[in-house]
Amino acid sequence: MSDAIQNLRALVRIPTVSRLDSATTDWAPFREFVDALPGLYPATHSALTRELVLEHSMLYRWAGRSDGSPSVLMAHYDVVAATAEGWEHPPFAAELIGEGEEQLIWGRGTLDDKGSLVAVLEAVEAQVLAGFQPTNDIYLCFGHDEETLSTGIQAVVQLLQSRGIHPALVLDEGGAVVEGIFPGVDSPIAVVGVSEKGSLNVTLTVDQQGGHASTPPKFSATARLARAIVRLNGRPFRSGFPATTAEMVRTLGAHSSVPLRWVFTNLWLTRPLLKSLFGRLSDETAAMIRTTQAVTMLGAGQAANALAERATANVNIRVAVDSSVAEAVEHVRRAVDDKLVAISIDQANEPSPVSLTTGPQWQLIDSIIGEVFPGTIVTPYVMLGATDSRFFTQLSSSVYRFSPFEMSGAERATLHARNERMHTATFLRGVEFYTRLVGRL
Ligand SMILES: [Zn+2]
Repeated sequence: MSDAIQNLRALVRIPTVSRLDSATTDWAPFREFVDALPGLYPATHSALTRELVLEHSMLYRWAGRSDGSPSVLMAHYDVVAATAEGWEHPPFAAELIGEGEEQLIWGRGTLDDKGSLVAVLEAVEAQVLAGFQPTNDIYLCFGHDEETLSTGIQAVVQLLQSRGIHPALVLDEGGAVVEGIFPGVDSPIAVVGVSEKGSLNVTLTVDQQGGHASTPPKFSATARLARAIVRLNGRPFRSGFPATTAEMVRTLGAHSSVPLRWVFTNLWLTRPLLKSLFGRLSDETAAMIRTTQAVTMLGAGQAANALAERATANVNIRVAVDSSVAEAVEHVRRAVDDKLVAISIDQANEPSPVSLTTGPQWQLIDSIIGEVFPGTIVTPYVMLGATDSRFFTQLSSSVYRFSPFEMSGAERATLHARNERMHTATFLRGVEFYTRLVGRL
């Protein structure tokens, strides 16, 4: 079996689970992971320098022959928690099941995101051993808390900024090679994230005098909060096609079957029709055309027979790239339309700027996808979730979110869920992608 697969297995077995409260995170596996890498990739660790940032995030520098146009390859090695319950094969055992193209490696982190991290290191190791030296500096940047607070990557970005480094290209996890996501298109599609939605949490709070539940007021705090939620739910955000989404529709539309092709490539005329189509097709397409809102947490009451003195709801909002945090908050205020419902905001992130979909960096990614995944259509898209790479948008106008792996719908559904797994053949094609990419930086 190839070393690459053995190395991935060894690293998936280290349970680097990050938790929102860093005091409850077990940091021993993180140290074990950091310490394991030099042994697995000796050539890389002699040719590149490595610094630890905030103790656990890793920043490598591979000096190029000149000091212009550096590139950054990103990945994170923390994973979301998993217990063996409900898994067909345990999450931290890295079992290999099956043979040939059907062979799978099971485990938390295979897709998100140790697969990318290991594929990057395999590529660099192979190129160093082949005697290659990059034209320009290459940085490898491996975060330790992407799934929680992203402090590691923010510190790395600050550090690079203080050194005056402005990357020509940044590549992080994000889109993948997927199939069956777009009506009328049968070919595989490489979706490359060029922007990501913003996000914020809004807390709705109703305070009221408590008392015995046997003599309730006409309109209790809980009922007022419930009304606010129902009002909000009945008022979706306006829909629209941000420029990137329109570009995606045109790119993919050109490859779709005949009647649909006309609809997708004549957006100037068919926009209203498409908005309603996207709104109904799936939750994913619906999220592409508007800011979304989801009430995720509710809280009220201390006892079954006492009125709640406070009722709260958390609304998680993902802000469309053509909107803003301020617009989202204003929408909530108007929809709730009740001065006795207090609205507070935390963890607000504006949508990220849109990276270039022209120029040498975009073309490089595009052409390597074509070489490694022949017959695949490449399209930009707006990521619905958030990645660490958003912090790099202040330093670079070519920040791309793309994991060079084929992922079926069933596999994508295992991200942050049970039974995360990856085909070993898929992983090895990812290594091929990064090897070619590194060879041209
Ligand atoms: Zn991830």
